[in-house]
Amino acid sequence: MIDLHTHTTASDGALSPTELLARAIANGVETLAITDHDTIDGYLAVRKTPPAQALQLISGVEISTTWNGIGIHLVGLDFIAEHPAITELLAHQSQARQNRAEIILQQLTKANMPISMEDLHTITDYNHIGRPHIARAMVEKGYVKDINSAFKKYLGTGKIGDVKSGWTDIPTAVKAITDSSGVAVLAHPNHYQMTRTKLFALLDDFQGAGGLAIEVISGLQPQSVNEKWARIARDKGFFASLGSDFHRPLSYAADVGQLPALPKNLSLVTLKANN
Ligand code: AMP
Ligand code: MN
Ligand code: MN
Ligand code: MN
Repeated sequence: MIDLHTHTTASDGALSPTELLARAIANGVETLAITDHDTIDGYLAVRKTPPAQALQLISGVEISTTWNGIGIHLVGLDFIAEHPAITELLAHQSQARQNRAEIILQQLTKANMPISMEDLHTITDYNHIGRPHIARAMVEKGYVKDINSAFKKYLGTGKIGDVKSGWTDIPTAVKAITDSSGVAVLAHPNHYQMTRTKLFALLDDFQGAGGLAIEVISGLQPQSVNEKWARIARDKGFFASLGSDFHRPLSYAADVGQLPALPKNLSLVTLKANN
């Protein structure tokens, strides 16, 4: 069983890297990538530990990029974690994330919902602030009733807290992943709300930049959607990746490793186990 897209407390997941490994092993996962948003701290914390040796742990990260003003996520897999190309990309992303958090907090303050950096640091101990952490602070302050309404009203696409400026672009991210001996994967291609024409332009740009694979299976998406992306992968000559995008145990989202088999006539992304 293979799962190449998961999150831990190093970004916006609920389980620590050790807890995620334990859950993956209990669920029968044999090959796992921890792909936190814009950080490999979770992966680095556990890669030399005994539980990580009970399965094949692949290096991974989910990179936030901007493409024509739209937020697009790339998964980097199987790169050399110490390579300066990936380290430099992650340093840039970390700075962009910090700047973005400050701008989002300014926006919320302007809208009479002040939250301080100190408030956020009681929610996340790692050096990573994501919109889910800001959403939690908004709930704790009583500004919104739950995390979903925080996204719906203030943090989701097109709202005051949807600040994308500063993320890297697709060519830069793909190059950093590839230069550090990894594989660039387009994450959850079915999540992007865009026309078919735009989506195919995205696929072409991604492929032109050196992107090799797409996530044919992402979480609990229906089998018909898996088949659709399998066809696109075959037609366009992409390798296939698959991942639960596990963040926390939820009845309506995939557990780590809870994935169907890849559709036929696809090549799974090649992993050399750089770790
Ligand atoms: P960020 O990386 O800071 O841009 O935050 C994006 C993350 O927020 C995604 O990876 C999801 O885990 C989470 N997210 C996005 N939309 C929602 C939503 N409506 N409710 C809860 N979490 C969400
Ligand atoms: Mn997330
Ligand atoms: Mn994503
Ligand atoms: Mn993800």
